[in-house]
Amino acid sequence: MSQSCLVVGAGLAGIIAARRLQKAGWQVTVLEKSKGYGGRMATRRIGEAIFDHGVQFFTMHSMFFRVLVENMQDAGVVGEWSRGFLNGDRILSLDGYLRFYGKEGMSGVAKHLAEPLDIRLQEEVTGLEAIGPSWHLKTKSGSDYQANAVILTPPLPQALALVQQIPSFSFEEELEKRLKEVKYEPCITIMVTLDGPSGIPEPGGIASTDPMSPIAWIADNRIKGLSPVDGITVHATGHFSRQNWKIDREAAGEKLWEAVKPLLAAERIEMQTHGWRFAHPTSILPENSLLLQQGPPLFLAGDAFGDRLNPVEGAVLSGLDAAKHLTKLLH
Ligand SMILES: Cc1cc2nc3c(=O)[nH]c(=O)nc-3n(C[C@H](O)[C@H](O)[C@H](O)COP(=O)(O)OP(=O)(O)OC[C@H]3O[C@@H](n4cnc5c(N)ncnc54)[C@H](O)[C@@H]3O)c2cc1C
Repeated sequence: MSQSCLVVGAGLAGIIAARRLQKAGWQVTVLEKSKGYGGRMATRRIGEAIFDHGVQFFTMHSMFFRVLVENMQDAGVVGEWSRGFLNGDRILSLDGYLRFYGKEGMSGVAKHLAEPLDIRLQEEVTGLEAIGPSWHLKTKSGSDYQANAVILTPPLPQALALVQQIPSFSFEEELEKRLKEVKYEPCITIMVTLDGPSGIPEPGGIASTDPMSPIAWIADNRIKGLSPVDGITVHATGHFSRQNWKIDREAAGEKLWEAVKPLLAAERIEMQTHGWRFAHPTSILPENSLLLQQGPPLFLAGDAFGDRLNPVEGAVLSGLDAAKHLTKLLH
């Protein structure tokens, strides 16, 4: 009989882990709490306008990710955006690294990669228990799932909250301390439809280097090649997002809009605000994934592990690492 695994989270770490296990002949089910695939690979529409409001682009460095991205390029799922962006003074800074975007948005990339998988959406895992050689997971909807192994891929503080509820599980003190030291920065994001071109020069992305500015990043989704009409995504800095996290979300969005408005050549038509509670880990653990217990196996994976400079690729390689490790443990 084939081995089975429950993967918690359908972001890229979870999707890649599940694909790898499925390829190795495992029975895999992915449980995802939200309504769509991709986690922080997220895309939203306002009328005809299309916005990536989480991940903006990704780079590739490892052979594994290079092959995956090239296959998606051949399938028309991803395209090349640029080799660098403008800085806060609108000076183009090219570093030679190709940045890719999803032609149907970042969520389209996740959807493409998720195609062969059994993913249960709106299944929020609320509890785990190891009984004999199996894991038993409960979800908010009242369902129970069972498998030989589990890979947890939510942002690390959320994954740890689940681990701490496991009956009979106890952390080794030093490990618990190390894991709890990884904090995440929030990010307030606005998506704004405009009545004309934004005035942001090619390639349509401005990355601020001033951590005290309200604005970290502005993207013109039309110049990017994503949106058929004018619309920008603005990410606030960690500083602004922390300071304004507890005020009304729409009011925080308005404050961010006031900061960005003078930089644009067009007027606002509509705006939506989103808050990412766990946007970016402020520190990264050096291992690519972590085996928390052997019997039955429980792994942690995701963007808190392995690669700080290239978060999307880091999440992919983390999911891959957990799956590879698991297939060596149980076969
Ligand atoms: C605003 C923003 C901009 C970014 N820009 C970039 C960029 O341009 N380039 C780049 O490389 N990286 C960027 N990142 C970082 C990148 O998004 C992440 O590093 C990467 O997507 C993490 O993938 P993941 O699979 O580890 O986690 P996630 O994508 O967060 O996936 C985890 C999944 O677990 C699910 N989940 C959580 N708890 C449960 C539960 N109890 N039960 C079931 N499911 C659960 C979540 O809903 C989510 O879908 C950005 C992030 C943000 C927020």
